[in-house]
Order: sequence, then C-alpha cells, then structure tokens
Amino acid sequence: MVMMSERAVIKRHPERAVSDEAQEILARGLVAHVGFSQGEQPFVIPLVYLYDLAKPDRLYLHGSLASRTLKHLASGSPVCVTVTTLKGLVYSRSAQYHSMNYESVVCFGKARVVKDGGKKAKLFERLISRYHSGRVAGRDYEPPDNQQLMATAMVEVQIEEMSAKARRVGPLGPHDADPDAPGTCGVITFDEMVVGTR
Ligand SMILES: Cc1cc2nc3c(=O)[nH]c(=O)nc-3n(C[C@H](O)[C@H](O)[C@H](O)COP(=O)(O)OP(=O)(O)OC[C@H]3O[C@@H](n4cnc5c(N)ncnc54)[C@H](O)[C@@H]3O)c2cc1C
Repeated sequence: MVMMSERAVIKRHPERAVSDEAQEILARGLVAHVGFSQGEQPFVIPLVYLYDLAKPDRLYLHGSLASRTLKHLASGSPVCVTVTTLKGLVYSRSAQYHSMNYESVVCFGKARVVKDGGKKAKLFERLISRYHSGRVAGRDYEPPDNQQLMATAMVEVQIEEMSAKARRVGPLGPHDADPDAPGTCGVITFDEMVVGTR
C-alpha cells in the first residue's frame, strides 16, 4: 500500500485530485519525466517506462549503462517521476481562463538496479509489449542476447507515494456560460488535435 505525506498532497485545485485513479493513469501513460538532483542542479529527463497494475508500487526505467540518468538512479538517490497525458486544449472568452485538460501523476521514490538476467529479459519483453501490444519475442522480433542485456541498465523505482490530478471540464471564464457574450470558447479534444495536424 502506497502511503501519502505532505509532499504528495494536492493543494492547488484540490477538487481535481483523483488519487483513486493514480494507478490507471500510470498504466495508460506513455512518457515518464524523471526528475533528480545532482548537487545543486536539478534534471528532468524523458524516458519510456513499464508500469503494471498487478504490481502498482513500482515502475521500471531502462537505458544505456553509460547514461548519466541511469547511473544516478542506480545509486538509490531520491527520484520524482511524472507522467502526464494531454486530453484537450481549453479556450475561453477571457485570456486568463485558457487552459488544458489533462491527467497526471507525480511519484516519489527510490530506484534500485535489476541485476537478475532472467528478470531483466522478461521486463524488456513486457516493456515492448506495453507499447506494441501483441508483439511476441521470438516471433515478431529477436529477443536481446546476453551482451545486449548486459549493456542495458534496468532500474526498479519503488514508489513511496504518489498523487494524481486531472482537469476534465470546459472553460471556466466569467463569460463562458453566456452564448451571447463576445468571443468564443470551447475544448479541442486530443483526437481533434491529432486530426488537425494531418
Ligand atoms: C519520449 C522519450 C523517451 C525516451 N526513452 C528513453 C529510455 O527509455 N531510455 C533511455 O535511455 N533514453 C530514453 N530517451 C532519451 C533520454 O531522454 C536521454 O536523452 C538519454 O537517456 C540519455 O540520458 P543521459 O542522462 O545519459 O543524458 P546526457 O546526455 O548525459 O544528458 C546531458 C544533457 O543533455 C540534455 N538531454 C538529455 N536528454 C535529452 C532529451 N531527451 N531532450 C533534450 N535534452 C536532453 C540535457 O541538457 C542533459 O542535462 C527518451 C527520450 C524521449 C524524448
């Protein structure tokens, strides 16, 4: 069970807290922004990730053995992993009320290296099938050999606590409910955005 302390309490727009959805949002997300500090310098690096609802208190990250990020995570230092999914662009009749619809999760935890070769190989398979559903090692692609496995670092982030927040409403400006007010308002959904770029 993941506990929650002060650092994971949503203070701004607490009505948008969706703690009970945190695991599903992590399972749906695609890109993890991984934050850590080295000395006085914070870094936030985008990575793919593996998250499984069957083991909801951990997630997995991988990269080259030479990666500064992976080396740092392997040291067990604190890490913050954020996953955001953009759902819509919100436009309002008032400048101040333009916004975005989203769902996001912020996880706090510490990482440790996955050393066991067999476990690592299975995690790589699951990582690929998470992004490419239905692809099977040995049928659709050649599994990594030992040398490739050894050259890739895999870390397990033990999630100590996490928060989840979502905005899922239309524009909230003072004139947005009045169809006769000047200007326009609405929401461009993610699907419309994707179609719009074609
Ligand atoms: C969507 C996405 C998924 C990715 N998934 C993975 C993954 O699963 N595993 C993996 O190893 N790599 C992944 N990458 C690449 C990753 O972001 C890093 O570039 C890479 O891991 C090297 O990390 P490093 O700590 O060794 O970087 P270094 O090269 O040591 O970083 C040095 C500096 O380079 C800059 N930098 C590094 N990465 C980026 C970046 N992505 N964009 C802009 N500037 C950058 C920063 O200023 C950083 O301080 C992904 C990138 C994206 C965009």
